Amino acid sequence: MAHGVHSERLTVGDLAFVRHAFARPHVDPVNVFVIGSTVIDTGHPSEPTLRWFRDQEELDRVVLTHSHVDHVGASIGLKSIARLPHVAFQGVFDELTDLEARMARMRDHLHGSGNSEGYPQSFVSEEFPPDLPHYDVTQSTSVSDGDTIDIDGMRFEVLHTPGHEYNHLSLWCPSSEVAFVGDAVMPSARFDVGVVNTSVGDYLETLERLSELGAEVLIPSHGDPITDVSSFIENCLTNVNETIDQVQTVTDRLRDPVDLREVAVEVFEPESGMAAKYFQDVTAAYVRYLDDDGSLSLIDTSGETR
Ligand SMILES: [Zn+2]
Repeated sequence: MAHGVHSERLTVGDLAFVRHAFARPHVDPVNVFVIGSTVIDTGHPSEPTLRWFRDQEELDRVVLTHSHVDHVGASIGLKSIARLPHVAFQGVFDELTDLEARMARMRDHLHGSGNSEGYPQSFVSEEFPPDLPHYDVTQSTSVSDGDTIDIDGMRFEVLHTPGHEYNHLSLWCPSSEVAFVGDAVMPSARFDVGVVNTSVGDYLETLERLSELGAEVLIPSHGDPITDVSSFIENCLTNVNETIDQVQTVTDRLRDPVDLREVAVEVFEPESGMAAKYFQDVTAAYVRYLDDDGSLSLIDTSGETR
């Protein structure tokens, strides 16, 4: 085992692949999957991940589930990977071009301001590093819902699975009844906001879509394969619907403008400044979902109205 990466061979039906889980200092490990000579996602652009990718000479194609920095690391951070053909959902390649500006906005957002809440400096600078090398992906193919991709002799369907992030795809292999779902769902069965382009309504539709597949196994980008798929999705739906009700109750009582900090504390009872900040983003996504005519104003940590 190379330092910082745990690799295991997995087989589901006729589909054989390797899961490589890369440790991250502040968050759960992130998985990349190799099927034949195709890799799904390229990890975070930090040195242990880039070092591993430098040695992978047999890879000849990349499929990206979405453009978050912990999924596109070697695609932007290593010339040898950037020049491979890349497949991603429409819009993702524009987002990659704009990645540095988006990361700068994330750093500003996560630092918080005006009080002690916010993410620790070390988290922000390690997860959204300011001085990355940035290579351009030169051979890109955009796909959309319903397109098919052949990987190692197996047919995969592209599913549009927004919610966590709008331009998010999952790969569904009907013959082996397995779906690679990126961050569309989390093993915790909780909705994980992607902050930008995130939507509770889209997430609900994605859960519906995934439940209709009849998958034997869902393979998320964080955590272990999910085998009890229908009860897992049932849990996800229960969690999201309970949270919708809780946020509705608290928001109705507090009225406009909605102080995200207050709602987040009541609904999620965060135990640290970092959790408080995270749950304000989660709360904002829920309030936006409930506020269908866009009439409410939100007050965030900094005291600013958005
Ligand atoms: Zn993500």
